[in-house]
Amino acid sequence: MAGRMKIIICLLRNDLRYHDNEVLFWAHKNATNVIPLYCFDPRHYKSTYNFGFPKTGPHRLKFLLESVEDLRKTLQSVGSGLVVRSGQPEDVVPQLIQQFGKDEVAAVALQEEVTSEELDVEAGLQQSCSKLGVQLKKFWGSTLYHRQDVPFDPQGVPNVYTEFRKKVENRSHIRPPINMPNSLKGLPQGTEEGDIPTFSSFGVKDPGSDSRSAFPFRGGESTGLARIEDYFWKSDCISQYKETRNGLIGSEYSTKFAAWLAHGCVSPRKIHAEVKRYEKERTANQSTYWVIFELIWRDYFKYVAMKFGNKMFALNGLLDVQKQWTKNKRWFDAWSKGLTGVPFVDANMREVAATGFMSNRGRQNVASFLAKDLCLDWRLGAEWFEQMLVDHDVTSNYGNWLYSAGVGNDPRESRKFNMIKQGLDYDPQGDYIRLWIPELKGIKGGAIHMPWTLSNAELNQAGVSLGETYPSPIVTAPEWSRHTSRPVSDKVKLISVILHI
Ligand SMILES: Cc1cc2nc3c(=O)[nH]c(=O)nc-3n(C[C@H](O)[C@H](O)[C@H](O)COP(=O)(O)OP(=O)(O)OC[C@H]3O[C@@H](n4cnc5c(N)ncnc54)[C@H](O)[C@@H]3O)c2cc1C
Repeated sequence: MAGRMKIIICLLRNDLRYHDNEVLFWAHKNATNVIPLYCFDPRHYKSTYNFGFPKTGPHRLKFLLESVEDLRKTLQSVGSGLVVRSGQPEDVVPQLIQQFGKDEVAAVALQEEVTSEELDVEAGLQQSCSKLGVQLKKFWGSTLYHRQDVPFDPQGVPNVYTEFRKKVENRSHIRPPINMPNSLKGLPQGTEEGDIPTFSSFGVKDPGSDSRSAFPFRGGESTGLARIEDYFWKSDCISQYKETRNGLIGSEYSTKFAAWLAHGCVSPRKIHAEVKRYEKERTANQSTYWVIFELIWRDYFKYVAMKFGNKMFALNGLLDVQKQWTKNKRWFDAWSKGLTGVPFVDANMREVAATGFMSNRGRQNVASFLAKDLCLDWRLGAEWFEQMLVDHDVTSNYGNWLYSAGVGNDPRESRKFNMIKQGLDYDPQGDYIRLWIPELKGIKGGAIHMPWTLSNAELNQAGVSLGETYPSPIVTAPEWSRHTSRPVSDKVKLISVILHI
Protein backbone atom coordinates (compact mmCIF):
# COMPACT_ATOMS: atom_id res chain seq x y z
CA MET A 1 0.00 0.00 0.00
CA ALA A 2 3.06 2.24 0.30
CA GLY A 3 2.78 5.32 -1.87
CA ARG A 4 -1.05 5.20 -1.92
CA MET A 5 -1.59 6.83 1.44
CA LYS A 6 -5.28 7.32 1.98
CA ILE A 7 -8.08 6.86 4.44
CA ILE A 8 -8.37 3.73 6.57
CA ILE A 9 -11.65 3.06 8.37
CA CYS A 10 -11.23 1.19 11.67
CA LEU A 11 -14.39 -0.56 12.71
CA LEU A 12 -14.17 -0.93 16.49
CA ARG A 13 -16.37 -3.52 18.14
CA ASN A 14 -15.13 -5.31 21.23
CA ASP A 15 -11.88 -3.36 21.24
CA LEU A 16 -12.95 -0.03 22.70
CA ARG A 17 -9.48 1.18 23.65
CA TYR A 18 -6.51 3.11 22.41
CA HIS A 19 -3.74 1.21 24.20
CA ASP A 20 -2.52 -2.05 22.64
CA ASN A 21 -4.86 -1.68 19.67
CA GLU A 22 -3.30 -3.21 16.57
CA VAL A 23 -6.16 -2.09 14.32
CA LEU A 24 -5.52 1.59 15.08
CA PHE A 25 -1.75 1.07 15.12
CA TRP A 26 -1.71 -0.49 11.67
CA ALA A 27 -4.07 2.13 10.26
CA HIS A 28 -1.91 4.91 11.67
CA LYS A 29 1.16 3.47 9.96
CA ASN A 30 -0.53 2.97 6.62
CA ALA A 31 -2.93 5.86 6.07
CA THR A 32 -2.98 9.61 5.79
CA ASN A 33 -6.26 9.73 7.67
CA VAL A 34 -7.74 7.25 10.11
CA ILE A 35 -11.46 7.00 10.83
CA PRO A 36 -12.17 5.14 14.08
CA LEU A 37 -15.80 4.06 13.83
CA TYR A 38 -18.25 2.56 16.30
CA CYS A 39 -21.67 1.34 15.14
CA PHE A 40 -24.57 0.79 17.50
CA ASP A 41 -25.81 -2.29 15.68
CA PRO A 42 -29.60 -2.63 15.99
CA ARG A 43 -29.26 -6.43 16.09
CA HIS A 44 -27.62 -6.12 19.51
CA TYR A 45 -30.79 -4.57 20.91
CA LYS A 46 -33.24 -7.16 19.63
CA SER A 47 -33.97 -10.50 21.26
CA THR A 48 -31.82 -13.40 22.35
CA TYR A 49 -31.77 -16.33 19.94
CA ASN A 50 -34.15 -18.90 21.44
CA PHE A 51 -36.11 -17.29 24.23
CA GLY A 52 -36.60 -13.70 23.19
CA PHE A 53 -35.08 -11.86 26.15
CA PRO A 54 -33.71 -8.41 25.34
CA LYS A 55 -30.19 -9.11 24.08
CA THR A 56 -28.58 -6.15 25.85
CA GLY A 57 -29.88 -5.30 29.30
CA PRO A 58 -29.67 -1.80 30.83
CA HIS A 59 -26.54 -2.44 32.90
CA ARG A 60 -24.44 -3.50 29.94
CA LEU A 61 -25.90 -0.72 27.81
CA LYS A 62 -24.81 1.76 30.47
CA PHE A 63 -21.29 0.33 30.52
CA LEU A 64 -21.14 0.43 26.72
CA LEU A 65 -22.37 4.03 26.44
CA GLU A 66 -19.80 5.10 29.01
CA SER A 67 -17.07 3.18 27.17
CA VAL A 68 -17.88 4.77 23.82
CA GLU A 69 -17.97 8.22 25.38
CA ASP A 70 -14.63 7.60 27.09
CA LEU A 71 -13.02 6.32 23.89
CA ARG A 72 -14.16 9.39 21.98
CA LYS A 73 -12.50 11.62 24.58
CA THR A 74 -9.28 9.60 24.48
CA LEU A 75 -9.17 9.60 20.69
CA GLN A 76 -9.85 13.34 20.63
CA SER A 77 -6.97 13.83 23.05
CA VAL A 78 -4.60 12.17 20.55
CA GLY A 79 -5.80 14.38 17.72
CA SER A 80 -8.44 12.08 16.28
CA GLY A 81 -12.04 11.36 17.23
CA LEU A 82 -14.64 8.62 17.14
CA VAL A 83 -17.27 8.46 14.45
CA VAL A 84 -20.46 7.02 15.91
CA ARG A 85 -23.36 5.75 13.84
CA SER A 86 -26.49 3.74 14.48
CA GLY A 87 -26.80 0.92 11.97
CA GLN A 88 -25.28 -2.33 10.85
CA PRO A 89 -21.58 -2.08 10.02
CA GLU A 90 -22.29 -3.83 6.70
CA ASP A 91 -24.40 -0.77 5.76
CA VAL A 92 -22.56 2.01 7.56
CA VAL A 93 -19.07 1.19 6.28
CA PRO A 94 -19.97 1.18 2.55
CA GLN A 95 -21.87 4.44 3.10
CA LEU A 96 -18.75 6.02 4.59
CA ILE A 97 -16.60 4.65 1.76
CA GLN A 98 -18.99 6.20 -0.72
CA GLN A 99 -19.07 9.48 1.16
CA PHE A 100 -15.30 9.88 0.86
CA GLY A 101 -15.06 8.17 -2.53
CA LYS A 102 -13.90 4.61 -2.92
CA ASP A 103 -10.60 5.68 -4.46
CA GLU A 104 -9.81 7.64 -1.33
CA VAL A 105 -10.32 4.70 1.01
CA ALA A 106 -7.41 2.29 1.16
CA ALA A 107 -8.81 -0.24 3.60
CA VAL A 108 -11.24 -1.16 6.32
CA ALA A 109 -9.64 -2.71 9.41
CA LEU A 110 -11.16 -4.57 12.35
CA GLN A 111 -10.43 -6.95 15.17
CA GLU A 112 -11.56 -10.50 14.44
CA GLU A 113 -14.13 -12.30 16.52
CA VAL A 114 -14.88 -16.01 16.72
CA THR A 115 -18.63 -16.59 17.00
CA SER A 116 -21.23 -16.72 14.26
CA GLU A 117 -23.08 -13.40 14.62
CA GLU A 118 -19.80 -11.50 14.62
CA LEU A 119 -18.38 -13.63 11.78
CA ASP A 120 -21.51 -12.87 9.74
CA VAL A 121 -20.75 -9.17 10.09
CA GLU A 122 -17.20 -9.83 8.89
CA ALA A 123 -18.45 -11.84 5.92
CA GLY A 124 -20.99 -9.13 5.01
CA LEU A 125 -18.30 -6.48 5.18
CA GLN A 126 -15.95 -8.57 3.12
CA GLN A 127 -18.60 -8.71 0.41
CA SER A 128 -19.33 -5.01 0.35
CA CYS A 129 -15.66 -4.09 0.52
CA SER A 130 -14.82 -6.44 -2.36
CA LYS A 131 -17.56 -4.89 -4.47
CA LEU A 132 -16.07 -1.47 -3.88
CA GLY A 133 -12.52 -2.73 -4.41
CA VAL A 134 -11.50 -1.86 -0.85
CA GLN A 135 -9.30 -4.20 1.18
CA LEU A 136 -10.66 -5.65 4.45
CA LYS A 137 -7.85 -6.22 6.91
CA LYS A 138 -8.44 -8.30 10.07
CA PHE A 139 -6.37 -8.41 13.24
CA TRP A 140 -6.32 -10.78 16.17
CA GLY A 141 -6.39 -8.97 19.49
CA SER A 142 -8.87 -10.36 22.00
CA THR A 143 -6.81 -13.06 23.72
CA LEU A 144 -3.72 -13.27 25.88
CA TYR A 145 -2.09 -15.78 23.53
CA HIS A 146 -2.11 -14.67 19.91
CA ARG A 147 -3.74 -17.06 17.49
CA GLN A 148 -0.53 -17.26 15.47
CA ASP A 149 1.51 -18.15 18.54
CA VAL A 150 -0.46 -21.10 19.96
CA PRO A 151 0.95 -24.58 19.30
CA PHE A 152 -2.19 -25.96 17.59
CA ASP A 153 -4.53 -25.13 14.75
CA PRO A 154 -8.22 -24.57 15.61
CA GLN A 155 -9.15 -28.24 15.16
CA GLY A 156 -6.29 -29.33 17.39
CA VAL A 157 -7.33 -27.20 20.39
CA PRO A 158 -7.13 -29.53 23.41
CA ASN A 159 -10.54 -30.39 24.86
CA VAL A 160 -9.44 -30.25 28.46
CA TYR A 161 -8.50 -26.94 30.04
CA THR A 162 -5.40 -28.19 31.90
CA GLU A 163 -3.93 -29.59 28.72
CA PHE A 164 -4.70 -26.36 26.88
CA ARG A 165 -3.07 -24.30 29.64
CA LYS A 166 0.04 -26.45 29.87
CA LYS A 167 0.53 -26.37 26.12
CA VAL A 168 0.25 -22.62 25.82
CA GLU A 169 2.32 -22.00 28.94
CA ASN A 170 5.10 -24.32 27.85
CA ARG A 171 5.12 -23.85 24.11
CA SER A 172 3.94 -20.34 23.47
CA HIS A 173 4.52 -16.81 24.72
CA ILE A 174 2.50 -13.71 25.41
CA ARG A 175 3.28 -10.73 23.24
CA PRO A 176 3.98 -7.40 24.92
CA PRO A 177 1.31 -4.72 24.43
CA ILE A 178 1.75 -2.60 21.33
CA ASN A 179 3.27 0.84 21.94
CA MET A 180 0.80 3.30 20.51
CA PRO A 181 1.80 6.65 19.01
CA ASN A 182 1.24 9.79 21.08
CA SER A 183 -0.97 11.16 18.37
CA LEU A 184 -3.09 9.36 15.82
CA LYS A 185 -3.55 10.41 12.18
CA GLY A 186 -6.59 12.67 12.14
CA LEU A 187 -10.08 12.27 10.75
CA PRO A 188 -10.45 13.43 7.14
CA GLN A 189 -11.68 17.02 6.75
CA GLY A 190 -15.41 17.37 7.08
CA THR A 191 -16.00 14.16 9.03
CA GLU A 192 -19.13 14.34 11.16
CA GLU A 193 -18.44 12.43 14.37
CA GLY A 194 -22.13 12.03 15.17
CA ASP A 195 -23.91 11.97 18.52
CA ILE A 196 -23.62 9.12 20.96
CA PRO A 197 -27.13 7.78 21.54
CA THR A 198 -28.78 7.97 24.94
CA PHE A 199 -30.81 5.42 26.91
CA SER A 200 -34.03 6.76 25.45
CA SER A 201 -32.83 5.96 21.90
CA PHE A 202 -32.96 2.31 22.96
CA GLY A 203 -36.25 2.65 24.83
CA VAL A 204 -34.43 1.69 28.02
CA LYS A 205 -34.25 3.44 31.39
CA ASP A 206 -30.91 4.27 32.99
CA PRO A 207 -30.60 1.58 35.66
CA GLY A 208 -28.84 3.96 38.06
CA SER A 209 -26.60 2.51 40.73
CA ASP A 210 -27.14 0.31 43.77
CA SER A 211 -25.07 0.97 46.86
CA ARG A 212 -24.79 -2.79 47.49
CA SER A 213 -23.13 -3.43 44.13
CA ALA A 214 -19.86 -5.36 43.89
CA PHE A 215 -19.32 -3.58 40.57
CA PRO A 216 -19.66 0.15 41.22
CA PHE A 217 -17.53 1.13 38.20
CA ARG A 218 -18.08 3.20 35.07
CA GLY A 219 -17.29 1.81 31.66
CA GLY A 220 -14.33 2.90 29.54
CA GLU A 221 -10.64 2.49 28.98
CA SER A 222 -9.75 5.18 31.55
CA THR A 223 -11.63 3.51 34.38
CA GLY A 224 -10.30 0.10 33.30
CA LEU A 225 -6.70 1.26 33.45
CA ALA A 226 -7.42 3.01 36.76
CA ARG A 227 -8.79 -0.29 38.10
CA ILE A 228 -5.49 -2.05 37.30
CA GLU A 229 -3.66 0.77 39.05
CA ASP A 230 -5.90 0.48 42.13
CA TYR A 231 -6.13 -3.30 42.39
CA PHE A 232 -2.43 -3.90 41.78
CA TRP A 233 -0.46 -0.86 42.84
CA LYS A 234 -2.58 1.11 45.34
CA SER A 235 -4.27 -1.61 47.40
CA ASP A 236 -2.00 -4.58 46.58
CA CYS A 237 -5.20 -6.66 46.49
CA ILE A 238 -3.68 -8.75 43.69
CA SER A 239 -1.24 -10.27 46.16
CA GLN A 240 -4.17 -11.96 47.97
CA TYR A 241 -6.38 -12.65 44.97
CA LYS A 242 -6.22 -16.45 45.27
CA GLU A 243 -7.53 -16.33 48.85
CA THR A 244 -10.22 -13.71 48.22
CA ARG A 245 -11.46 -14.60 44.72
CA ASN A 246 -14.40 -16.65 45.95
CA GLY A 247 -15.85 -13.71 47.86
CA LEU A 248 -19.36 -12.40 47.44
CA ILE A 249 -19.51 -8.90 48.86
CA GLY A 250 -17.74 -5.70 47.84
CA SER A 251 -15.56 -4.66 44.95
CA GLU A 252 -12.18 -5.94 46.14
CA TYR A 253 -12.47 -9.73 46.41
CA SER A 254 -11.72 -10.17 42.70
CA THR A 255 -10.26 -8.03 39.93
CA LYS A 256 -13.59 -7.09 38.29
CA PHE A 257 -11.69 -6.86 34.99
CA ALA A 258 -14.28 -8.92 33.09
CA ALA A 259 -16.51 -6.08 31.88
CA TRP A 260 -13.56 -4.06 30.61
CA LEU A 261 -12.15 -7.15 28.92
CA ALA A 262 -15.49 -8.04 27.33
CA HIS A 263 -15.75 -4.60 25.74
CA GLY A 264 -12.06 -4.53 24.96
CA CYS A 265 -11.53 -1.42 27.12
CA VAL A 266 -8.53 -3.19 28.59
CA SER A 267 -6.36 -5.64 26.70
CA PRO A 268 -5.47 -8.96 28.35
CA ARG A 269 -1.85 -8.41 27.30
CA LYS A 270 -1.81 -5.12 29.18
CA ILE A 271 -3.02 -6.93 32.33
CA HIS A 272 -0.37 -9.60 31.82
CA ALA A 273 2.37 -6.99 31.42
CA GLU A 274 1.24 -5.26 34.64
CA VAL A 275 1.19 -8.58 36.53
CA LYS A 276 4.75 -9.25 35.40
CA ARG A 277 5.85 -5.74 36.42
CA TYR A 278 4.11 -6.19 39.80
CA GLU A 279 5.85 -9.53 40.30
CA LYS A 280 9.19 -7.91 39.57
CA GLU A 281 8.71 -4.77 41.62
CA ARG A 282 6.58 -6.01 44.54
CA THR A 283 5.87 -9.70 44.96
CA ALA A 284 5.31 -12.83 42.91
CA ASN A 285 3.13 -15.47 44.56
CA GLN A 286 0.30 -17.92 43.82
CA SER A 287 -2.18 -15.06 43.76
CA THR A 288 -0.38 -13.03 41.12
CA TYR A 289 -0.07 -16.14 38.97
CA TRP A 290 -3.73 -16.99 39.51
CA VAL A 291 -4.92 -13.85 37.72
CA ILE A 292 -3.10 -15.13 34.63
CA PHE A 293 -4.45 -18.64 35.25
CA GLU A 294 -7.99 -17.24 35.11
CA LEU A 295 -7.26 -15.19 32.02
CA ILE A 296 -6.14 -18.42 30.34
CA TRP A 297 -9.66 -19.79 31.02
CA ARG A 298 -10.95 -16.84 29.07
CA ASP A 299 -8.60 -17.68 26.17
CA TYR A 300 -9.53 -21.33 26.39
CA PHE A 301 -13.23 -20.65 25.76
CA LYS A 302 -12.39 -18.48 22.75
CA TYR A 303 -10.27 -21.25 21.26
CA VAL A 304 -12.94 -23.84 22.10
CA ALA A 305 -15.45 -21.68 20.22
CA MET A 306 -13.16 -21.60 17.21
CA LYS A 307 -12.96 -25.37 17.25
CA PHE A 308 -16.61 -26.18 17.85
CA GLY A 309 -18.40 -23.28 16.12
CA ASN A 310 -22.15 -23.20 16.69
CA LYS A 311 -22.09 -26.38 18.79
CA MET A 312 -21.34 -23.96 21.59
CA PHE A 313 -24.97 -22.85 21.41
CA ALA A 314 -26.53 -26.29 20.91
CA LEU A 315 -28.68 -27.88 23.60
CA ASN A 316 -26.68 -31.11 23.36
CA GLY A 317 -23.44 -29.20 23.59
CA LEU A 318 -20.00 -29.85 22.21
CA LEU A 319 -20.05 -33.62 22.27
CA ASP A 320 -23.74 -34.14 21.49
CA VAL A 321 -24.79 -35.41 24.91
CA GLN A 322 -28.48 -36.31 25.16
CA LYS A 323 -30.08 -35.27 28.45
CA GLN A 324 -33.60 -34.67 29.66
CA TRP A 325 -34.24 -30.95 29.82
CA THR A 326 -37.46 -29.18 30.75
CA LYS A 327 -38.79 -25.69 30.07
CA ASN A 328 -40.95 -25.34 33.21
CA LYS A 329 -41.88 -21.65 32.99
CA ARG A 330 -42.83 -21.33 36.64
CA TRP A 331 -39.44 -22.63 37.73
CA PHE A 332 -37.58 -20.44 35.29
CA ASP A 333 -39.51 -17.35 36.45
CA ALA A 334 -38.69 -18.20 40.06
CA TRP A 335 -35.00 -18.65 39.20
CA SER A 336 -34.71 -15.46 37.18
CA LYS A 337 -36.56 -13.33 39.74
CA GLY A 338 -34.69 -14.68 42.75
CA LEU A 339 -37.79 -16.34 44.18
CA THR A 340 -36.87 -20.04 44.25
CA GLY A 341 -37.00 -20.19 48.04
CA VAL A 342 -33.32 -21.24 48.10
CA PRO A 343 -31.62 -18.18 49.57
CA PHE A 344 -28.15 -18.68 48.08
CA VAL A 345 -29.64 -18.87 44.58
CA ASP A 346 -32.08 -16.03 45.13
CA ALA A 347 -29.53 -13.61 46.57
CA ASN A 348 -27.26 -14.10 43.55
CA MET A 349 -30.08 -13.76 41.04
CA ARG A 350 -31.29 -10.57 42.69
CA GLU A 351 -27.78 -9.17 42.70
CA VAL A 352 -27.32 -9.67 38.96
CA ALA A 353 -30.71 -8.14 38.19
CA ALA A 354 -30.00 -5.10 40.36
CA THR A 355 -26.39 -4.51 39.30
CA GLY A 356 -25.45 -6.51 36.17
CA PHE A 357 -22.78 -8.37 38.15
CA MET A 358 -22.57 -11.66 40.04
CA SER A 359 -19.45 -13.25 41.53
CA ASN A 360 -17.91 -16.31 39.94
CA ARG A 361 -18.95 -18.38 42.98
CA GLY A 362 -22.52 -17.18 42.52
CA ARG A 363 -22.53 -17.90 38.79
CA GLN A 364 -21.25 -21.44 39.29
CA ASN A 365 -24.02 -22.10 41.79
CA VAL A 366 -27.02 -20.57 40.09
CA ALA A 367 -26.01 -22.27 36.83
CA SER A 368 -25.68 -25.66 38.53
CA PHE A 369 -29.02 -25.13 40.25
CA LEU A 370 -30.77 -24.31 36.96
CA ALA A 371 -29.21 -27.15 34.99
CA LYS A 372 -28.79 -29.89 37.60
CA ASP A 373 -31.47 -29.28 40.25
CA LEU A 374 -34.21 -27.83 38.04
CA CYS A 375 -33.07 -29.64 34.86
CA LEU A 376 -34.14 -26.59 32.85
CA ASP A 377 -32.84 -26.11 29.31
CA TRP A 378 -29.44 -24.57 30.13
CA ARG A 379 -29.77 -22.11 27.26
CA LEU A 380 -32.51 -20.32 29.22
CA GLY A 381 -29.87 -19.54 31.82
CA ALA A 382 -27.24 -18.60 29.26
CA GLU A 383 -29.60 -16.24 27.44
CA TRP A 384 -30.73 -14.71 30.73
CA PHE A 385 -27.07 -14.05 31.58
CA GLU A 386 -26.51 -12.67 28.08
CA GLN A 387 -29.12 -10.06 28.81
CA MET A 388 -28.08 -9.31 32.36
CA LEU A 389 -24.31 -9.37 32.63
CA VAL A 390 -22.34 -6.18 32.37
CA ASP A 391 -19.39 -8.40 31.36
CA HIS A 392 -21.24 -10.64 28.94
CA ASP A 393 -18.72 -12.25 26.66
CA VAL A 394 -20.23 -14.75 24.31
CA THR A 395 -17.53 -17.42 24.58
CA SER A 396 -17.00 -17.11 28.36
CA ASN A 397 -20.73 -17.14 28.98
CA TYR A 398 -21.73 -20.04 26.75
CA GLY A 399 -18.49 -21.90 27.50
CA ASN A 400 -19.13 -21.77 31.24
CA TRP A 401 -22.79 -22.67 30.83
CA LEU A 402 -21.87 -25.74 28.77
CA TYR A 403 -19.56 -26.70 31.57
CA SER A 404 -22.17 -26.17 34.29
CA ALA A 405 -24.78 -28.06 32.31
CA GLY A 406 -22.43 -31.00 31.82
CA VAL A 407 -22.50 -30.78 28.02
CA GLY A 408 -19.09 -29.22 27.50
CA ASN A 409 -15.84 -31.11 27.20
CA ASP A 410 -15.11 -31.26 30.89
CA PRO A 411 -13.88 -34.44 32.56
CA ARG A 412 -15.71 -33.40 35.76
CA GLU A 413 -18.95 -33.02 33.89
CA SER A 414 -21.18 -34.75 36.39
CA ARG A 415 -20.26 -32.16 39.03
CA LYS A 416 -23.28 -30.76 40.82
CA PHE A 417 -23.07 -28.04 43.43
CA ASN A 418 -24.78 -28.44 46.77
CA MET A 419 -26.48 -25.08 47.37
CA ILE A 420 -26.51 -25.44 51.13
CA LYS A 421 -22.91 -26.55 51.49
CA GLN A 422 -21.78 -23.80 49.14
CA GLY A 423 -23.80 -21.19 51.01
CA LEU A 424 -22.40 -22.30 54.36
CA ASP A 425 -18.83 -22.52 53.03
CA TYR A 426 -18.74 -19.15 51.31
CA ASP A 427 -21.24 -17.18 53.38
CA PRO A 428 -21.08 -18.89 56.78
CA GLN A 429 -22.84 -16.11 58.71
CA GLY A 430 -25.36 -15.38 55.96
CA ASP A 431 -24.28 -11.74 55.49
CA TYR A 432 -24.56 -12.02 51.73
CA ILE A 433 -28.11 -13.37 51.98
CA ARG A 434 -29.12 -10.56 54.34
CA LEU A 435 -27.71 -8.01 51.86
CA TRP A 436 -29.93 -9.16 48.99
CA ILE A 437 -32.91 -10.78 50.75
CA PRO A 438 -33.91 -8.30 53.42
CA GLU A 439 -37.10 -10.24 54.18
CA LEU A 440 -34.93 -12.95 55.77
CA LYS A 441 -32.74 -10.63 57.79
CA GLY A 442 -34.35 -11.61 61.09
CA ILE A 443 -32.78 -15.10 60.83
CA LYS A 444 -29.44 -15.14 62.58
CA GLY A 445 -26.25 -16.84 61.37
CA GLY A 446 -25.93 -19.64 58.81
CA ALA A 447 -29.47 -20.90 59.49
CA ILE A 448 -30.58 -18.30 56.93
CA HIS A 449 -29.44 -20.69 54.16
CA MET A 450 -32.27 -23.16 54.91
CA PRO A 451 -35.23 -21.31 56.38
CA TRP A 452 -37.55 -24.26 55.68
CA THR A 453 -35.75 -26.32 58.32
CA LEU A 454 -36.58 -23.82 61.10
CA SER A 455 -39.48 -24.36 63.47
CA ASN A 456 -42.59 -22.18 63.23
CA ALA A 457 -41.59 -20.49 66.46
CA GLU A 458 -38.16 -19.63 65.06
CA LEU A 459 -39.62 -18.35 61.82
CA ASN A 460 -42.20 -16.28 63.71
CA GLN A 461 -39.52 -14.75 65.82
CA ALA A 462 -37.55 -13.83 62.69
CA GLY A 463 -40.66 -12.31 61.11
CA VAL A 464 -40.62 -14.85 58.27
CA SER A 465 -43.68 -16.62 56.98
CA LEU A 466 -42.73 -19.18 54.34
CA GLY A 467 -44.96 -19.04 51.31
CA GLU A 468 -45.96 -15.48 52.25
CA THR A 469 -43.01 -13.21 53.03
CA TYR A 470 -40.52 -15.55 51.31
CA PRO A 471 -41.19 -18.64 49.15
CA SER A 472 -40.89 -22.23 50.26
CA PRO A 473 -38.20 -23.93 48.14
CA ILE A 474 -39.46 -24.94 44.69
CA VAL A 475 -37.22 -28.03 44.90
CA THR A 476 -34.92 -29.55 47.48
CA ALA A 477 -32.07 -31.95 46.79
CA PRO A 478 -31.45 -35.03 48.95
CA GLU A 479 -27.82 -34.08 49.59
CA TRP A 480 -28.88 -30.82 51.25
CA SER A 481 -30.08 -32.64 54.34
CA ARG A 482 -26.46 -33.49 55.17
CA HIS A 483 -26.01 -29.87 56.15
CA THR A 484 -28.00 -28.81 59.12
CA SER A 485 -28.58 -25.13 59.64
CA ARG A 486 -28.27 -25.58 63.41
CA PRO A 487 -24.87 -25.70 64.99
CA VAL A 488 -24.74 -29.15 66.59
CA SER A 489 -22.99 -28.98 69.95
CA ASP A 490 -20.30 -31.53 70.72
CA LYS A 491 -22.44 -32.89 73.56
CA VAL A 492 -25.36 -33.58 71.23
CA LYS A 493 -22.98 -35.15 68.70
CA LEU A 494 -21.57 -37.44 71.40
CA ILE A 495 -25.02 -38.51 72.59
CA SER A 496 -26.04 -39.22 68.97
CA VAL A 497 -22.99 -41.40 68.49
CA ILE A 498 -23.64 -43.31 71.68
CA LEU A 499 -27.33 -43.81 70.90
CA HIS A 500 -26.60 -44.45 67.18
CA ILE A 501 -29.14 -41.83 66.11
C1 LIG B 1 -22.42 -19.62 34.16
C2 LIG B 1 -21.26 -18.66 34.03
C3 LIG B 1 -21.31 -17.62 33.11
C4 LIG B 1 -20.24 -16.74 32.97
N1 LIG B 1 -20.33 -15.72 32.04
C5 LIG B 1 -19.26 -14.91 31.84
C6 LIG B 1 -19.31 -13.87 30.87
O1 LIG B 1 -20.30 -13.68 30.16
N2 LIG B 1 -18.22 -13.07 30.73
C7 LIG B 1 -17.09 -13.26 31.49
O2 LIG B 1 -16.13 -12.51 31.32
N3 LIG B 1 -17.01 -14.25 32.39
C8 LIG B 1 -18.06 -15.07 32.60
N4 LIG B 1 -17.97 -16.05 33.54
C9 LIG B 1 -16.68 -16.31 34.22
C10 LIG B 1 -16.45 -15.60 35.57
O3 LIG B 1 -17.51 -15.88 36.44
C11 LIG B 1 -16.28 -14.09 35.41
O4 LIG B 1 -15.27 -13.81 34.45
C12 LIG B 1 -15.85 -13.42 36.71
O5 LIG B 1 -16.76 -13.72 37.74
C13 LIG B 1 -15.79 -11.92 36.52
O6 LIG B 1 -15.34 -11.28 37.68
P1 LIG B 1 -13.85 -10.78 37.79
O7 LIG B 1 -13.47 -10.00 36.58
O8 LIG B 1 -13.72 -10.09 39.09
O9 LIG B 1 -13.04 -12.13 37.78
P2 LIG B 1 -11.64 -12.55 38.43
O10 LIG B 1 -11.87 -13.64 39.39
O11 LIG B 1 -10.91 -11.37 38.93
O12 LIG B 1 -10.85 -13.19 37.20
C14 LIG B 1 -9.97 -12.44 36.36
C15 LIG B 1 -10.42 -12.60 34.93
O13 LIG B 1 -10.23 -13.94 34.50
C16 LIG B 1 -11.26 -14.31 33.58
N5 LIG B 1 -12.04 -15.42 34.16
C17 LIG B 1 -12.19 -15.75 35.46
N6 LIG B 1 -12.93 -16.87 35.59
C18 LIG B 1 -13.28 -17.23 34.34
C19 LIG B 1 -14.05 -18.31 33.81
N7 LIG B 1 -14.63 -19.24 34.59
N8 LIG B 1 -14.23 -18.37 32.48
C20 LIG B 1 -13.67 -17.45 31.66
N9 LIG B 1 -12.92 -16.42 32.11
C21 LIG B 1 -12.73 -16.31 33.42
C22 LIG B 1 -12.14 -13.09 33.41
O14 LIG B 1 -11.72 -12.40 32.28
C23 LIG B 1 -11.88 -12.29 34.67
O15 LIG B 1 -12.08 -10.93 34.51
C24 LIG B 1 -19.07 -16.93 33.73
C25 LIG B 1 -19.03 -17.97 34.67
C26 LIG B 1 -20.11 -18.82 34.82
C27 LIG B 1 -20.03 -19.94 35.82
